[in-house]
Amino acid sequence: MVDASTPVISPEAGSARAGLGVREVVKVFKTSHGPVTALEGVSFDTREGSFTALIGPSGCGKSTLLRMFAGLDDPTSGSVSVLSQAAAVVQQQHQIGVAFQDAALLPWRSVEANIALPLQVAGRRIDKKAIADLIALTGLKGFEKARPAQLSGGMRQRVAIARALVLEPSVLLLDEPFGALDDMTRHTMNAELQRIWSERPTTTLLVTHSLGEAVFLSDHIFVMAARPGRIVARVDVALERPRTAEVRSSPEFHDYADRLAQLLFAAKAA
Ligand code: ADP
Ligand code: MG
Repeated sequence: MVDASTPVISPEAGSARAGLGVREVVKVFKTSHGPVTALEGVSFDTREGSFTALIGPSGCGKSTLLRMFAGLDDPTSGSVSVLSQAAAVVQQQHQIGVAFQDAALLPWRSVEANIALPLQVAGRRIDKKAIADLIALTGLKGFEKARPAQLSGGMRQRVAIARALVLEPSVLLLDEPFGALDDMTRHTMNAELQRIWSERPTTTLLVTHSLGEAVFLSDHIFVMAARPGRIVARVDVALERPRTAEVRSSPEFHDYADRLAQLLFAAKAA
């Protein structure tokens, strides 16, 4: 393990250019019970095109960090950069795709109209073929005209993921996107996400509670602890790609998951 604050230097993961960066980020929320330090002194760098996961106990600031990379929130102090620019600038260029825990779909819109929304917001042409491909990819075929209320939680998450991908973003920010899915579907979605990620150089940050999901998908995993939210460890995953079902059941895979479980356990006790 290396010091969590050192830049990620791994020749096989992504390009030489900067992906996501945070430097000494502090985030304090003012609440009626006084200030809450959600993040304290968080620093790391990833490379463009690399896949990074954030794991850690509830309340350690994972979503807060992800929202900053999405340009939805600012740090109290410190800096946040996305592809060497301010997050808000990259967001305005429609280069960031986000999918949150809660799918946040527009209830009056059909599945396909929800997926098309970012294209409309960005003033782009609605590419029917691209939307049909995404619907097939995320296993939503036959539900094109359905409204969110007619779908299960898992199906709504798939719509959120398709919507996050529709602009072919350079940066993908995923906050527990597969949490509501059963294990089988989750494994399928993990494999699909790996394929999408391999086909396009997409700088990705995934927040997940699943250690297996983190190991399966990531180049780098940051382990966080709470109160205050901070990074306590970084694990680089050197498993070959593409990662297959066999890789998932290999001893090396289980060693990574076990190491993460130990780090998480220590983080919770800290
Ligand atoms: P995680 O995603 O790791 O569960 P969050 O980033 O959601 O953690 O939250 C980190 C901490 O910041 C928690 O203590 C949470 O209660 C607090 N927090 C998050 N958002 C707000 C907010 N808008 N106002 C006040 N406190 C917040
Ligand atoms: Mg969260």
